[in-house]
Amino acid sequence: MAVGKEILDALHALVDREITLMHICGTHEAAIARAGLRSVLPPKLKIVMGPGCPVCITPQGEIDAALDLVERDCTIATYGDLLRVPGSKGSLESSGGDVRVVQGVHKAVEIARREPDREVVFISVGFETTAPTVAATILSRPPENFSILSCHRLVPPAMEWLLGQGEAAIDGFILPGHVCAVMGYEEYEKFPVPQVVAGFEPEDILLGLLMAVQQVRDGVHRVENAYPRVVTREGNVKAKRLMYEVFEPFDIEWRGFPVIPASGLRLKSEFEGYDAQKKFGIEIRHVDKHSACICDKVLRGVARPSDCRLFSKACTPRTPVGPCMVSHEGACKIWHLYESRR
Ligand code: SF4
Repeated sequence: MAVGKEILDALHALVDREITLMHICGTHEAAIARAGLRSVLPPKLKIVMGPGCPVCITPQGEIDAALDLVERDCTIATYGDLLRVPGSKGSLESSGGDVRVVQGVHKAVEIARREPDREVVFISVGFETTAPTVAATILSRPPENFSILSCHRLVPPAMEWLLGQGEAAIDGFILPGHVCAVMGYEEYEKFPVPQVVAGFEPEDILLGLLMAVQQVRDGVHRVENAYPRVVTREGNVKAKRLMYEVFEPFDIEWRGFPVIPASGLRLKSEFEGYDAQKKFGIEIRHVDKHSACICDKVLRGVARPSDCRLFSKACTPRTPVGPCMVSHEGACKIWHLYESRR
């Protein structure tokens, strides 16, 4: 950690005013919390988490749509993280339906092949990291009793919304290393704000923070890459091509956000046989938020999990009230596991 100490010393020397940096990645949040980085950073340097947990930003309307598919006697294949996320009428776990946890889309296809009399729907959540794999699966023409409920989201449109809105007063972004490994960072260059792609070791994150703070201090903005061993400017060209061969962007709501233009991915019309929404006539409705859960603010970086009056009291990983306490990439669960024990 000698390198980390050097970077930390440089950070302390540089930060002489309030600076807020946002990261958009649950894995970054977990790494920051696990290493206790916030406790050693300069007090005036604030790190907030944005909408970087794909399960957390899936709105109630999409959970309700998955529950509608249960009512139509579909077999639901989903990541374990999504099981307990509350919709407006319960969760997949409490639905009593045929809901199975899978580790990926290929496992869902295996179920469809094994059980040709069942309709199997994969709840396809995730950012640009998971969408190419799902696209490759669709291109392999899985059996007709297989379909997906596409809940995919794209990171840059949400950043654009956050910057346009100005609610969180963000001085710069730490860009998600996993997403950028696939997509590269070219498309982030349009944003007039300091940005640094960072990896996931404590030293990677500290270096990303130092480079972003240096830009803030110098009054410049550009995209820099502190994770060159994995990320290139153009990303994985083949994966991007696959993704856009199968999916197209469309306007969609995020939990905690309004409808963000071109921020979702839906199947193109030539693949609509695999689109569960079209296949089963499922509508995704907007659901108003009712509970005291402030996940919406946590996801926009304007509140910390500990600002929520339910945090680690009524809301714990065993009794989650909102999605940010369910997912292992959710800020509330991460804070409950690490930060609240310090
Ligand atoms: Fe929502 Fe629970 Fe987080 Fe509060 S602690 S914001 S109720 S998930």
